[in-house]
Amino acid sequence: MSAATLGHVLQGVGVGRRAVVGPVAQVRPAPHLEPDAPLLVDGVPADAATVHAAVEAAFADVATALRDQSARSAGTVKDVLAATAQMADDRALRTQVLARIDGGEPVVSAIDAVVSTFAAMFEQAGGYLAERVTDLRSVRDRVVARAMGLPAPGVPELTRPSVVVAKDLAPADTAALDLANVLAIVTELGGPTGHTAIIAGQLGLPCIVRVTGATSIPDGTPVAVDAANGTVTTDPDTALRAELDRRAAVEVALESDTAPGGTADGRPVALVANIGTAEDAARVSGGAVEGVGLFRTEVLFLERASAPTADEQTAVYARALTSFGTRKVVVRTLDAGADKPLGFATQPDEENPALGVRGYRLVRTHPELLDTQLTALARAQTETGTTPWVMAPMIATAAEARAFAARARAAGVATVGVMIEVPAAALRAREILAEVDFVSLGTNDLAQYTMATDRLRGELADLLDPWQPAVLDLVDATARAGIEAHKPVGVCGESAADPVLALVLVGLGVTSLSMSAGAVPAVRYALRNHSTAECATMAASALAAPSAADARAAVVDLVHPDVREMLGV
Ligand code: PEP
Ligand code: MG
Repeated sequence: MSAATLGHVLQGVGVGRRAVVGPVAQVRPAPHLEPDAPLLVDGVPADAATVHAAVEAAFADVATALRDQSARSAGTVKDVLAATAQMADDRALRTQVLARIDGGEPVVSAIDAVVSTFAAMFEQAGGYLAERVTDLRSVRDRVVARAMGLPAPGVPELTRPSVVVAKDLAPADTAALDLANVLAIVTELGGPTGHTAIIAGQLGLPCIVRVTGATSIPDGTPVAVDAANGTVTTDPDTALRAELDRRAAVEVALESDTAPGGTADGRPVALVANIGTAEDAARVSGGAVEGVGLFRTEVLFLERASAPTADEQTAVYARALTSFGTRKVVVRTLDAGADKPLGFATQPDEENPALGVRGYRLVRTHPELLDTQLTALARAQTETGTTPWVMAPMIATAAEARAFAARARAAGVATVGVMIEVPAAALRAREILAEVDFVSLGTNDLAQYTMATDRLRGELADLLDPWQPAVLDLVDATARAGIEAHKPVGVCGESAADPVLALVLVGLGVTSLSMSAGAVPAVRYALRNHSTAECATMAASALAAPSAADARAAVVDLVHPDVREMLGV
């Protein structure tokens, strides 16, 4: 059945395979700040007393709304909302705004000026206050919107399970979503391997990016979000709903196999999860995953004005390690920079941040960040009696791998690896593997750098495709080096979550696949139904194909027909 014949279909780029139906909840953009815009009553500029009263009421309303919302929320969302409500209630802030307005300054200009002054003071104070600057700006936007009669900006309060739709979402917005009521995420901008899409995947949420027109769907409209096909269908009919129900039943059936991952002839392939927080670890560890292949620790650093202390990091790592007990956990050191900028670490003026001081390269400018992190991990290891593995992102040379391994071992972490996500590292995988115990292919960045294609540019998704022969060649080179060195070669980019591509990766010699936990059952099923020799044949035909589309088509032809049918490929 073609989804295109049903409802009104918007096409985007899907992340993952899941599908849901639910009502739309639009994330309103911040109001455009026009400093001189007058406050109008019945279409004419209001008098001074009315403006004063309206702004005072706007502050009070915003504070009340935030407090109420906080009272109905839980966890981080509750705390963030409560802290933001306190700012909207702040007497000094309000008094200074009103004084400027009484002095004749336009509303927006007055609010913006006072908030800017406070933001500068907060930033200078550092620590907790500096971290509240984003909340302060959100108070400004809410009060301006309230006073000017515009819809409240930001992620709306979700009172029922909803499909969150936004122009774009910062990783921090995504991480702060009230998960109990988020069914799926749809954005107009962003790329399929951008960090918002990845965080959504880790949270197990279907996500579709690059959906032109999504922000025009009215709030409350029922939509079917199908990540496998990248479609958002408004007012889905019963046939589409039935098809999605059938697919959900297949997912449930696949989940009943909880045995360790491996091929039909018994070659083990560890199926492990990508996580970003200790909460992810707690949630995911209850499922059938053999551990964690990628703990993206930068989530702990996002939206902060300074790095978390060693104690704070130790506590988070210890919680994550405890969740997995004796199962393997690969912790990746901070991968800041490019699309994950950190105010205190990355340089704001880099012309090509993806090619700049990001990932492991931060050791050049901020060695203390890496050392604190390694110390915290070693302490968490001692506290929990576990043996985490550690790896560095964005390694380009064997010398970097050697230096990282020395630092990690000196800190007390025994099993050390690096990510292969820069073509130079893939080409020199043999020399790199001589320095470390394992490598993990980050195919998101490997595709970005091999194809010279920004991973955030959804319109270039065809070039960014991990099926691109040049990308597969580099995976092949790395896997061969691993076989030669008898050392593990994992994949932790999004490509590991594609059950068909997973067969190719295993055929190339990859030993573990790390993905969002929700993707594991389909990958496990695909592997279980193909032998090592069949995977090798698929890998050979993918490498021989002239294009990404041909490679995929050739491999799909080799997939057993019943597996094709079950997985809908
Ligand atoms: C990758 O690049 O494939 C990867 C796993 O790292 P990240 O997506 O966090 O950059
Ligand atoms: Mg990467």
